[in-house]
Amino acid sequence: MSGTLQGKVAIVSGSSAGIGAAVAKELAQRGATVVLNYPHAGEKENATKILSSFPEPSRSIAVEADISTYQGAKTLVHAAADAFRKVDILVNNAGIMLPGDLDDPDDAKVESNWERMINLNGRGAYFLTRAVLHVLSRENSRIVNIGSGVSRVPSTGQSMYAGVKGMLETLTRSWAKELPRKYGCTVNAVAPGIVATEGYLSSPQFVRDMVKPFVDSTPVAPRETTPEEVAWTVAMLCEEKAGWLNGVYVPIAGGSIMI
Ligand code: NAD
Repeated sequence: MSGTLQGKVAIVSGSSAGIGAAVAKELAQRGATVVLNYPHAGEKENATKILSSFPEPSRSIAVEADISTYQGAKTLVHAAADAFRKVDILVNNAGIMLPGDLDDPDDAKVESNWERMINLNGRGAYFLTRAVLHVLSRENSRIVNIGSGVSRVPSTGQSMYAGVKGMLETLTRSWAKELPRKYGCTVNAVAPGIVATEGYLSSPQFVRDMVKPFVDSTPVAPRETTPEEVAWTVAMLCEEKAGWLNGVYVPIAGGSIMI
């Protein structure tokens, strides 16, 4: 099979559903060998289904690893290196969105939500990137972080999630400065608007009611972003021709987020 990402090995964290699954499929369609990732045995069937939808499923693998731990990040990278000897593309996608009102009286819930989000959305991306460095191809490699429009266009009740995504945005810029000459890679991020994935649809109704006016006023059309639109943008940043794009934060929201 030929394709613009032929010969590339890509890790996509959290790719048994939602945006990660769409990114994995798009990269595989373009010829990449993909290392899918799911967090626990309960997600294995979903990951296997995604894998079997690839044009050449036998060239790719699915790895169980919880990215909210450093050990999980290392497990994922070791599995990729053992199978393919190198990694060209890392997509830091695994993330969860939990509500986090600053004045929520439930201390235990607030502490737990903060810990879960910082561990996966923040530390998870940091440690997975750290773990991948020693096997990253030294030429034309790519790191793409899945940020969120909410780090630029604030939404009520989401300051905790927005704060952690803001951290990922800042990490993107820091790595975009640090890594290209040393590791031959570019580092970019995308900022999707609202994407109707399982993760988003499982958020409380009040969160969805809150963002409805934002979706309805989208300049291009009154609808959410699709996972495929995110996947196309991520894949575009992974192309060799995108080598001069570094440190960018690309909004994918029909003009409802302008950076
Ligand atoms: P989702 O819940 O639909 O899918 C998340 C995926 O991550 C699943 O495959 C899940 O199994 C996996 N995952 C969860 N915990 C994990 C862990 N500890 N280790 C490894 N994998 C794990 O979520 P989504 O809506 O597709 O979101 C994906 C990314 O996009 C997240 O970083 C999210 O913050 C970001 N994002 C989502 C939206 C949106 O509206 N859906 C908007 C902007 C950004």
